[in-house]
Amino acid sequence: MKTFKNAETQAIRLQYQRTDNNEHSVPLYLTSSYVFEDAEDMRSQFAEEKEGHVYSRYANPNVEELIHKLAALEGAESGWATATGMAAVFSFFGAILNSGDHIVSSRSVFGSTHKLFTEIFPKWGIETTYVDFDDYLGFANAVESNTKIIYVETPSNPALDIIDLEKLAEIAEAKDLILAVDNCFATPYLQQPLKHRAHVSIHSATKYIDGQGRTLGGAILASEKIIDKVKAFARHSGPAISPFNAWTLSKSLETLHVRMDRHCDNAIAIAKRLENHTAVEVVKYPFLPSHPHFEIAKKQMKSGGGIVTFQLKSGLKGGKTFLDALNLFSLTANLGDVRSIATHPASTTHSKLTPEQRAEVGISDGLVRLSIGLEHVEDIWEDLENALDASLSEVSVSNEYLVKS
Ligand SMILES: *Cc1c(COP(=O)(O)O)cnc(C)c1O
Repeated sequence: MKTFKNAETQAIRLQYQRTDNNEHSVPLYLTSSYVFEDAEDMRSQFAEEKEGHVYSRYANPNVEELIHKLAALEGAESGWATATGMAAVFSFFGAILNSGDHIVSSRSVFGSTHKLFTEIFPKWGIETTYVDFDDYLGFANAVESNTKIIYVETPSNPALDIIDLEKLAEIAEAKDLILAVDNCFATPYLQQPLKHRAHVSIHSATKYIDGQGRTLGGAILASEKIIDKVKAFARHSGPAISPFNAWTLSKSLETLHVRMDRHCDNAIAIAKRLENHTAVEVVKYPFLPSHPHFEIAKKQMKSGGGIVTFQLKSGLKGGKTFLDALNLFSLTANLGDVRSIATHPASTTHSKLTPEQRAEVGISDGLVRLSIGLEHVEDIWEDLENALDASLSEVSVSNEYLVKS
């Protein structure tokens, strides 16, 4: 496949080779296996002496196209695609770690990644030490003789913490560790961790890469050396993405830059208006100057992304009132969709934690996470303004309660 200078063109023009039918749009290769020319061809492909397709758990043209595009966008030598984002996270750790190894991770990570670290990996003697995202000395101090990987999410879900990748890369390089980044929130269009000296970029393609809430998918982008290990693990453990989902995601990449530009434009406009609303305590958005790590965000990211979080003055109760008053926004577990989505972590994904545990990962009771979609910004704002006004009734209720008690 050819290469082009700019990412936008790569995402569109890195197509799998045309067949004899001269199709313009890449066809869907729904096949579980491939035929060999003869017995010798079959022998040499099984022996991995000759490149080719054997079985779709190993390789498939649609999957290869998706990997090729993502690697080009991330500036990575190689890559691997998986059925889900979690399959990518798990395959990466599974490929690299042996029993007895150790991970140093930022504390604020995706819920299922947290489950891997705390419930699954300990079964195999793999332990994880959490460090606060901005405690760079803490990262260095947490490294033990058996540490293999430093793992972070930036921006993190849902706290939107921003971590300076070059600072962590220095620690990783000094101790010969792999620095891996969950790049889901930023997408390869807004942030390329490998260009900031990280070794691995991991995606849930389910989010912005699909962008329309249709398919699950995941990817790992890294050096040939790391991906060879991932391949050896994933080919036999079987987290393969279906050709149909890979085809859908590859098509989605063609419009990623246009969609992300609009997600970002809408998100910053909404973030600014939220800052001025009386129902709102504080707003967090990577490209707002009020974000504590605005300077790092500007250094690492092209723009702030589509996720905005804010804290309601009316707390847990106000959060639920706010969600119930929304009309345009969807209440759903996904993000990165063309449709705007609102979630209230304290009453849903993080409801089993105590308020103190939630605070540790940056989630207050009044925290609302918005995934700003591609609807007209005025329609998005009208819906939010109505719901914010509704949440204000809970502020007076909680104040009354405080006075009485
Ligand atoms: C959604 C998500 C994942 C997991 O991806 P799936 O495709 O749902 O398996 C991992 N990391 C982050 C930051 C996510 O938002």
